Amino acid sequence: MRSVENNRPRPYSFESMRPSILFPFFAEIRTLAGVGPKVERLIQRVAGPRLVDLMFDLPTGLIDRSYRPKLAEAELGRIVTVNVNVLSHKPSRDRRQPYRVIVSDDTSLLELAFFHAHADYLKRQLPEGSRRIISGKLERFRDTLQMTHPDHIVAPEDDSGLTLHEPIYALTEGLTLKVLSKAIRAALDNVVLLPEWDDPAFFAKQGWHAWHEALLEAHAPQSDADLSPETPVRKRLAYDELLANQLALLLIRRQMRQAKKGRALPGDGSLKARAIAALPFALTAPQLQAIAEIEADIAAPTRMLRLLQGDVGSGKTIVAFLALLNAVEASAQGAFMAPTEILARQHMASLEPYAKATDIRLGLLTGRERATRETTLAALAAGEIDILIGTHALFTEDVEFADLGLAVIDEQHKFGVHQRMLLQGKGGRPVDVLVMTATPIPRTLALTAYGDMDVSRLMGRPPGRQPIATRTLSDERLDEVIEHLRKAIATGARAYWVCPLVEESEFVDLAAAEERAAMLKRVLGLKIGLVHGKMKGTERDAEMARFKAGETSILVATTVIEVGVDVPEATIMVVEHAERFGLAQLHQLRGRVGRGSGKSSCLLIYHGPLGETAKARLNTMRETDDGFVIAEKDLELRGAGELLGTRQSGMVEFRVADLAVHGDLLAAARDDAQLILTRDPELQSERGQALRTLLYLFGRDEAVRYLKAG
Ligand code: ADP
Ligand code: MG
Repeated sequence: MRSVENNRPRPYSFESMRPSILFPFFAEIRTLAGVGPKVERLIQRVAGPRLVDLMFDLPTGLIDRSYRPKLAEAELGRIVTVNVNVLSHKPSRDRRQPYRVIVSDDTSLLELAFFHAHADYLKRQLPEGSRRIISGKLERFRDTLQMTHPDHIVAPEDDSGLTLHEPIYALTEGLTLKVLSKAIRAALDNVVLLPEWDDPAFFAKQGWHAWHEALLEAHAPQSDADLSPETPVRKRLAYDELLANQLALLLIRRQMRQAKKGRALPGDGSLKARAIAALPFALTAPQLQAIAEIEADIAAPTRMLRLLQGDVGSGKTIVAFLALLNAVEASAQGAFMAPTEILARQHMASLEPYAKATDIRLGLLTGRERATRETTLAALAAGEIDILIGTHALFTEDVEFADLGLAVIDEQHKFGVHQRMLLQGKGGRPVDVLVMTATPIPRTLALTAYGDMDVSRLMGRPPGRQPIATRTLSDERLDEVIEHLRKAIATGARAYWVCPLVEESEFVDLAAAEERAAMLKRVLGLKIGLVHGKMKGTERDAEMARFKAGETSILVATTVIEVGVDVPEATIMVVEHAERFGLAQLHQLRGRVGRGSGKSSCLLIYHGPLGETAKARLNTMRETDDGFVIAEKDLELRGAGELLGTRQSGMVEFRVADLAVHGDLLAAARDDAQLILTRDPELQSERGQALRTLLYLFGRDEAVRYLKAG
């Protein structure tokens, strides 16, 4: 019996109450026969550390071995499976020649060729005079039928290892299909009958099979059609995953609301009125609508957990600020967390005038204010700071608010559901939370990532914005781009130049960016700035400041400018190797320009030839600048996980479910989850118990913790 003690601590550790029926599922893959440390590492890369990860690692293709001709009639170039007699062995004379084994059926001879062969091994595999089933690609060499390195050699009485339809799994360098398949088969031996968690009526209507059958079937495709995400088998598995996701989010949401009752923070509107009077613009209808929704939440005695979604430049900051003023009016404090120091400072700078107009006290806390840190913390604890702006540093251990009422978290990328849960511990009193994201998210995705939150959407942009002229062009026309820049900059324009993003290698990014900066400097004879991810915060800020002040007219960057920096004077965005970026990223980058009143342009330079998806992405960029439309298109175009940048965007990753195809299942899972919790709030019934198992199976242990012990 394997025990849970073997299990490594989970990222958010607490005592797991995982039921014993699931222990085999969560055994580590190294407990499988034949999986040593090296193979374990490789398998971890493609699947994960536990048997359950292997079970859900579904085939991506199949090899059809069902073609079983007589040798004399067999088509060349196909995978054939033949029954043969082993006639003789012909060891190679020298290293370049293969070791050959001659076999035959009753119609023809066949030569099996092995390079770098071990004679002993082959003698054992293919004893002379024995019968064997051989499967592999049939070829002709000179006048002889030949098969080089057959995929399978099995004795007729031992053909269990030979499937006529052999599943193919995604591999990584160093990991062979044989090794991975064997591990997966071994993992599947641990699949036990679990209590059914799906509603029997629903389940029957869909024509679905029991879970363990579905799982085993998913690993045994008989045709390409069986690999489609739309087969009943895959849909069933996807549905379970989505149901676990939705149930967990609803439980977390309920917990967030119930655990700490929440408090009413009824503002009197006085500060808000003064701030609005000081604005140089009128709030738009969507802004007013969002403010009303947020205020209603803050005033209510329940905890707010709301997501404010709005495209880059849609004006979220002022909405957040007015919400914070609401808390201050009710004599509580506010916190405004930005993802980077630059952004924290930028918020500080843009809010200061309104703070003056309303006589409220702002504080700034990032990792960098060492000199003033103590004073700031003391003032905060004494209630002498009304709104504290900062980075993650805001929520570290020693930061104590006198009375935190509302926390705003800007640009939510790295702020997942776990962090949202941690926030509730802060300060002992309930805190309303407003999360803002500039990544427009398709409705389906929003439900999986933020199903625990209410959502406000800021559609459209404030008036006075010029549309951004977007062009795509091949890198063979780099000269034209540079000429365009020369002219534009001569008339006072400023430009960003974003360099290729190369996955997992910041050094390569950096080299490319440095080289480009040097080249532009040489050709244009201008002052060029350079920012990149390896820079210290202070250096980067200084470089940004030079660009903002106009001391440099082109800012070459790796993607560090992706998040929220505001330089209204910049009107040109050049993106090199645009084909490597995901739609969401391109959209974010383009959003860096068009912030002022000047006419802006975005030049997407690609390196051809373009694949279909890349072409569609670039076309979408040309056709629309509506972030929500782009987000939907992004989802539609996305091959699972293929897109750069989805990983860091805080999106939930599913193992089986593919939201581009299973959107309708998600909606059903949402409804199902709601109904389940209405009827059986603590999951105590028989089905409820089975659903607990489902939650554990998908690693949603933290959600089960919120249930009364069953
Ligand atoms: P984001 O949603 O990307 O955070 P910001 O809040 O930074 O957008 O707003 C972008 C710019 O638009 C800011 O300079 C801000 O002052 C301005 N802005 C916000 N609301 C309006 C409005 N109603 N009318 C005109 N300009 C606005
Ligand atoms: Mg912003």
